[in-house]
Amino acid sequence: MTRQFALNSTTTDYPTSHTKSGTEPYLTPLFINNEFRVSKATEWYDIHDPATDIVISKCPQTTAEELEEAITNAHEAFKSWKKVSIMRRQQIIFKYVELIKKNHDRLAAVIVAEQGKTFDDAKGDVLRGLQVAEYATSVTTQLQGQQLEVATDMDTLMIREPLGVVAAICPFNFPAMIPLWTIPMVLATGNTAVIKPSERDPGCCSVLAELLVEAGVPPGVINLVQGKVDTVNTLIKHPLVKAVQFVGSSTAGDYIYKTSIAHGKRAQCNEAAKNHVVVLPDANKAQFINATVGAFAGAAGQRCMAASVLVTVGETKEWIDDLIEASKQLKTGSGFDKGSHLGPLISKAALERSHKIIEQGVKQGAKVVLDGRDIKVEGFPDGYFLGPTILTGATPGNIAYDEEIFAPVLCVINVDTLDEAIELVNSNQYGNGVALFTTSGIYAKKFVKEIEPGQVGINVPIPVPLPMFSFTGSKGSFQGDLNFYGQAGLTFLTKPKTITSLWKTSLVEETKPSTSMPTQN
Ligand code: NAD
Repeated sequence: MTRQFALNSTTTDYPTSHTKSGTEPYLTPLFINNEFRVSKATEWYDIHDPATDIVISKCPQTTAEELEEAITNAHEAFKSWKKVSIMRRQQIIFKYVELIKKNHDRLAAVIVAEQGKTFDDAKGDVLRGLQVAEYATSVTTQLQGQQLEVATDMDTLMIREPLGVVAAICPFNFPAMIPLWTIPMVLATGNTAVIKPSERDPGCCSVLAELLVEAGVPPGVINLVQGKVDTVNTLIKHPLVKAVQFVGSSTAGDYIYKTSIAHGKRAQCNEAAKNHVVVLPDANKAQFINATVGAFAGAAGQRCMAASVLVTVGETKEWIDDLIEASKQLKTGSGFDKGSHLGPLISKAALERSHKIIEQGVKQGAKVVLDGRDIKVEGFPDGYFLGPTILTGATPGNIAYDEEIFAPVLCVINVDTLDEAIELVNSNQYGNGVALFTTSGIYAKKFVKEIEPGQVGINVPIPVPLPMFSFTGSKGSFQGDLNFYGQAGLTFLTKPKTITSLWKTSLVEETKPSTSMPTQN
């Protein structure tokens, strides 16, 4: 028997402060066939509020039977969902957009509670996902087919059809945005999905699922399963799953990409990054400093597009003191505190790892010129806080430069010329994003032409394209051929079909059968 239950937040009642110690942890539900239910799991993972270390919820390792049920239901639902008219699907997405807007604060609050980022930043997380849903309503124009009369009275029509069940495996750092890279695009294209949110902050995705029911999405079209590697392994190997979307670390992504492909699926995997900001002496200094501080420390550096390396060209190395001063003005604290600029890291393990990398980086020659390790946040002695930290001398070969730390840590490297800066950026294995600060159109043009990462900002520190384009990370930050959302996202989620028809308008009959290929047009 499945047990129906309500989520622990509503449109008007959601967390505005941290859960007190001693409160019974909330059990994250599964969402299968439009019903929430408690898993029969024997294994549950604790979800700690990163600001307090208190266990506020638990995430189940979905059982093999439940996983099978979710995938089979999605497969069954596909048979009728793919036949629902595109206009009807579009209307459902319009309604979903409206509901996300109505629940914007609630979604953000659930993110703050489990993930730790500041409320305003969490609202940005939701907004970026909402924009994908808004883009998906354009499917009626974006998914039009092609038609040509290829011979007298003979037409070829090319349409794009949905694939079937899509599996999505999500990271912890954008609990709203990344599930929303999948949900509206899957709805628009007529696919169905089984989504696995991060086991570290699955709560927001449950709210997104609840809104799907209200928007009129039929049972089985979007399902949520929970857990860790066992869940992923089932999804990426299951014969009924036709495509896999992954966003997360490179360790997981490389494995998921290879395994998905080996099991005959399409896959697109967005992975780790090390994003450089390059600054030239002609840049607007104030603009550069404000942008860079926000880009390395915002979201506690837990953005795949965070600026984690600053390349100062020539005399801009003298600007470091101002950068340090501006970074010192940031307040590290609870995400529910309106005055906080950055919250805690996601876990104690993430905090310990960051400390370790900084220590090792120092042993290898780096110098800590701004140290956020000893930060004390009043009222939150057990939170996983790391204040903004700046290292100099962490060049390639130093662990602090080589590893994605995923924390508010900026490595600063000085070079003499723009050419050297370009060479440094291009030598890095990753290729998610890069930014140049300059007032010179000529240098900007040269930079754009020669730089390798897939998302380039000119005086824009985090150049993530809006969803009418695609998320174009490249090199070691992406595996696959077609990127998330935008036109590429629609192409990834659909396959082409051609229909060639002959409707003769002349009454002249052919006199004999033809056994050869046509020799004339
Ligand atoms: P993660 O790889 O630990 O987890 C991501 C997902 O994969 C989770 O759902 C997790 O359960 C699953 N997973 C983890 N290890 C696995 C394994 N060995 N086998 C199978 N599944 C596994 O990533 P995270 O810590 O949640 O997220 C942070 C990472 O995500 C960073 O590296 C960041 O750069 C990256 N990220 C990239 C983008 C992008 O668009 N390029 C966007 C957001 C985050």
